[in-house]
Amino acid sequence: MEKLCEFVKDLPDTAKAVEFGVYPESVNELNGDYVFMAKDEEADVIVATGKAQELFEGERVTCGAGAYVVAPKTHKNANALRAAFPFTAPVQVLKKTRTFGVGDRLGIAAPGHIRVFKDYDAYPILAQQSIRELNLTERTYEDVLDAASFYVFRDGYKRGFGADGDHLKKPEEIEYALSLGFSMITLDCSEHIRGGVETMTHDELAKTELPAGMAERYLGKTFTVEGEDLVFDEDELRRCYLIYGEALTFASGIYDKYFRKGGAKADFEISIDETATPTSPLQHYFVANELTREGVDIATMAPRFCGEFQKGVDYIGDLAQFERELKTHAAIARHFGYKLSIHSGSDKFSTFKLIGKYTKGNFHVKTAGTNWLEAMRAVATARPALYREIHEYALSMFAEAKKFYHVTTDLTKIPALDTLSDAELPSLFTQNDARQLIHITYGFILTVKDEAGNYRFKDRLYKFWREEEDVYSDMLYAHIGKHLALLYEGFQK
Ligand code: ZN
Repeated sequence: MEKLCEFVKDLPDTAKAVEFGVYPESVNELNGDYVFMAKDEEADVIVATGKAQELFEGERVTCGAGAYVVAPKTHKNANALRAAFPFTAPVQVLKKTRTFGVGDRLGIAAPGHIRVFKDYDAYPILAQQSIRELNLTERTYEDVLDAASFYVFRDGYKRGFGADGDHLKKPEEIEYALSLGFSMITLDCSEHIRGGVETMTHDELAKTELPAGMAERYLGKTFTVEGEDLVFDEDELRRCYLIYGEALTFASGIYDKYFRKGGAKADFEISIDETATPTSPLQHYFVANELTREGVDIATMAPRFCGEFQKGVDYIGDLAQFERELKTHAAIARHFGYKLSIHSGSDKFSTFKLIGKYTKGNFHVKTAGTNWLEAMRAVATARPALYREIHEYALSMFAEAKKFYHVTTDLTKIPALDTLSDAELPSLFTQNDARQLIHITYGFILTVKDEAGNYRFKDRLYKFWREEEDVYSDMLYAHIGKHLALLYEGFQK
């Protein structure tokens, strides 16, 4: 990296940045010295001059009277970067008017995402991963966070971004995310939500004893939310309590420990979406009202909407019913002072305008693996032979992958690969069954090894993504941009 001598000598003049492989928007001054990022053969590196050299561990280069350090993208250097440049650390953005969770399953999606959020005022959650995703991709929260920080620095995104410990279920998972500075925790209450209650008879329900005071709080009353009346009868109240009672105790216990007493500098989201039956508006009101009584301050709540929000495909279900219920869900959220959070929001194009409209532009929408699908679309477009190999492997692993995800994929609808020309391969990403096949098999694709113990696909994939960063970035910019454009069509700024 001696070639950077001349660039460093000319600072603060950055006219020749691109010529030297320096990312122009990464050049930042720090007390008269400079820190920036440059392309190296295998990966990008941090470069720091003057006294700023002391902040990073790396290789020192002297040139003439000056010197600089070339620092690799390690966790230690990421921590140093976050300390020196606070805009590279996640901040609490969830209570801002509009937020959008993109995550970055592979640690390479942020450049495309950042371009989108330079166009829209919604704040991005650039780091967002569930423990399941971490395990399936063999990544850590350190990786996930560091990838976001490095790209934010490199591409000069200074408005602030969030980091979401997504769908966390256990105290130790929450501690892990908080210890690294994650700025929001999404508490997944699904293991504490009781199923099978919807079909219970009046006599079965009547056996349930409600906690003291609960009947008085709800029965014989009318709760009016934005002109709509919500009334609980005895059966429905018992149902609410049976389904959500334990989840409420769990959520307020976690809130108490980490937020009220623990002073976590993070926003709190409650997710009750991963259940078989939808959250009725009445149930949503009950959960919100009980949390409020307990003094639990939530920034967002994710109910389970009617119909299906399956991964990577548009909404499945009765859109008119969805619209009616969304209207009430949004009103309830406003009434209690938090935002609706819409999970598995990737590719739900028929719903976005409605979501923008009924939330009045106050929303949190999460997409998860769609950045993975776009990465694979890029492979199908530019490396057809590699894509064919992966597709065949995905088909062989589908039954196994299906155990982790609820999808209604019909493999027989996916065209046989030998009937498609190379140029036709990207069209598979417009076909729902093919999308879901690739969507849910990511863990297998990324971690499978050959007999010699080498990754079968992972290394070739990452090499390709690095070589064709612009192809991927353009695809993500268009794809996620389409989500935002439709959401913004629904409301007046
Ligand atoms: Zn969810």
